Amino acid sequence: MHEVVIIGAGITGLTTAHHLKKRGVDFCILEKGDRVGGVINSVTENGFTYEEGPNSGVITNVEVLRLFEDLKDDCELEEANENVKKRYILKNGKWEPLPSGLKAAITTPLFTLKDKFRILGEPFRAAGKIPNESLAELVKRRMGQSFLDYAIDPFILGVYAGDPNRLITRFALPKLYNLEQKYGSFIGGTIRKKFEPKTVEEQGVSRGVFSVKGGLITLIKALKNKIEDQYITLGISNIQVHPTGNHFRITYNDTHGSPVELEAKKVITTVGAYHLNKMLPFVEPTKMVNLTSLYYAPTIEVILGFNKWSGMKLDAFGGLIPFKENRDILGVLFMSALFKDRAPKDGALFSIFMGGVRRSEICELPISQIKKIIKKEICQVMKTDEFAPDLFKIIHHEWAIPQYEADTEDRLQAIEEVQNQYPGLIIGGNLRNGIGMADRILQAKMLADATQELIN
Ligand SMILES: Cc1cc2nc3c(=O)[nH]c(=O)nc-3n(C[C@H](O)[C@H](O)[C@H](O)COP(=O)(O)OP(=O)(O)OC[C@H]3O[C@@H](n4cnc5c(N)ncnc54)[C@H](O)[C@@H]3O)c2cc1C
Repeated sequence: MHEVVIIGAGITGLTTAHHLKKRGVDFCILEKGDRVGGVINSVTENGFTYEEGPNSGVITNVEVLRLFEDLKDDCELEEANENVKKRYILKNGKWEPLPSGLKAAITTPLFTLKDKFRILGEPFRAAGKIPNESLAELVKRRMGQSFLDYAIDPFILGVYAGDPNRLITRFALPKLYNLEQKYGSFIGGTIRKKFEPKTVEEQGVSRGVFSVKGGLITLIKALKNKIEDQYITLGISNIQVHPTGNHFRITYNDTHGSPVELEAKKVITTVGAYHLNKMLPFVEPTKMVNLTSLYYAPTIEVILGFNKWSGMKLDAFGGLIPFKENRDILGVLFMSALFKDRAPKDGALFSIFMGGVRRSEICELPISQIKKIIKKEICQVMKTDEFAPDLFKIIHHEWAIPQYEADTEDRLQAIEEVQNQYPGLIIGGNLRNGIGMADRILQAKMLADATQELIN
């Protein structure tokens, strides 16, 4: 009998385990893969260090800083290069910097004159009253169509590979939604928030971009070290959870296929919504539909490494490509400009994203076709005539980014109901509480707190 079984050893499961271990709570982690980390994996090869999943996170909450403090003996947070904060947006084939202040927003060629006046009037516009308003509707209402097309749309491609017409603001970007609801304005709210009192810890929440020295896998290895191997079981299959009165029976096959059975007072799931159906067979079918009807946009991540780079100057975070520009890639991250030691000196490392909600058909193309598209797109947008990369990797993510769309409310309610019906079962993971790594780290703390509450 374990106190807690955690299913899934991605960053959510590992960070939850780390918190439980710190509190002396007995637990074990069950993971179907043959390694920990979930979608996070970094590879070092021929002088390049590249990411196969997420490339960088954003320091949006204190739990990120606390986690790095806990792990400081084994891993070092690396903030992105201060000199490359600029984000480029492609318009009519030309990169334009995304405005970072009001003055730049008025002079940029990204927005129309009409919308520039609209932006100036934003603080005086009434707050919306439709709780499930889409992000596109909200932004058009407050800032205008060109702001949606050339600021929010590419931002959403970069974060969600998503479609602002389908994402519901209060679930997909709750901080933006709250700025309007609490302060009545994005601009006014941002200014007022700056002057609100903050604890010393909160002042460290910079919204800066982070990675880890040596790649994000170093964070995963550090977590694994803290948790210790004996508490992690890899390579399991066919896991099922069965409530049995005041605890749970968990059955699975071990790495050799032999059946295993164990018991736990509490079960925390941290897997994607699409895994829950088989895992929780006791959940009423209508509730299960609400739990699992979450669309995960497929993406392709292309890694390009050049020992010597002779294209455009890499003086930015990267470039994002609005849907309106009708191109075959979503954006390019300049990884070697952002973080140290990612490419040989004078070389370059890029992460390029393709697919997503509105271009999912690209993910079905044969590799030869994808290579052709990449060559054409990179030569054009990165201003290089030579295309002979020294590193060329294509990584398919079939279930990449969950989209918090109109079905989110039903899903959250179903989670609540199932958890209440089966006390001790906690449903975590990226089906709620945000999709970024920082959101996952924050949720892990919440999962550990919820477990602790049940124990007390
Ligand atoms: C391509 C891509 C790029 C991204 N880029 C960024 C980025 O730049 N910045 C950012 O902040 N975030 C990014 N994200 C999001 C971020 O990476 C994820 O939200 C986060 O890593 C998810 O962690 P997790 O632990 O919740 O889930 P996962 O990493 O999916 O881990 C879940 C674990 O559960 C295991 N599992 C599943 N089913 C079972 C089962 N039946 N039994 C046992 N184990 C099971 C899986 O094998 C996996 O190890 C990106 C995600 C993707 C896919």
